[in-house]
Amino acid sequence: MSLTIISRSGWDSRGPKRPLTRLNKRRVKGIVLHHSGVRNGPKGVNAVRAFERHHLDANGWNAIAYNWLVDEDGVVYEGRGAGFVSAANRPWNSRTESICYTGWGGSPIPEATKRSIRSLVDDIQNRYDQKLWVKGHRDLASTTCPEAVLYQWMQAGMPLDGSVVKTDKEVVDENVEIARLGGQVAKKPLSKRRRSRGQAVRAVQRRLNELGHDAGPVDGHYGPKTASAVRSFQNKYRDFLSVDGVVGKNTWKMLFS
Ligand SMILES: [Zn+2]
Repeated sequence: MSLTIISRSGWDSRGPKRPLTRLNKRRVKGIVLHHSGVRNGPKGVNAVRAFERHHLDANGWNAIAYNWLVDEDGVVYEGRGAGFVSAANRPWNSRTESICYTGWGGSPIPEATKRSIRSLVDDIQNRYDQKLWVKGHRDLASTTCPEAVLYQWMQAGMPLDGSVVKTDKEVVDENVEIARLGGQVAKKPLSKRRRSRGQAVRAVQRRLNELGHDAGPVDGHYGPKTASAVRSFQNKYRDFLSVDGVVGKNTWKMLFS
């Protein structure tokens, strides 16, 4: 996964006022997550500039506090950047790198943001010999930062929605595979009566589950649960499909279009 990072000059940073202090790499223990702390605050680069204004002018700090910032579209901004002492989590500033989500961490976190935070954490880990922990600001100080939703996602190991992290090649391979299986299904529809099984059934089950029609485990066996999920899907598109619980050419097309 490649990550595009907007450099400080890229977002017209005014800082730092004086040279930044380098972290002693061997002393670094972890990565700390923060959020904006305001609901309905500014978005994108405006949030980053607002942070900098606050940190330079109101707090009198040398530079924007965080090493990295990630906005609601998953855009990553360089704050103090790689390997520098930060300012947002005393007394851990010289033993951590910090990432701030510029949105409100108590609301659902956009998938693009999660992806970027996750890549950023991987990038940071790769720069250190020791394995770093990942914590929320609230683990280190008396604060609710980064709020419940972001915190729980972090605690769950920062899972990503599988459909979003596929590489281009995987997507292409998958489309080729779906087209191939679709050809088979057009000749020989899938059904419970036929006790259909195999790859095509598995693809149907996975897709039905993704679309919220519970097909049960993706086991490649066309049982009653799969048939009823197919019916539920067909019912939604009953203007175009017959609601018969059988996956023929048309249902397949509708499923994978
Ligand atoms: Zn914080």
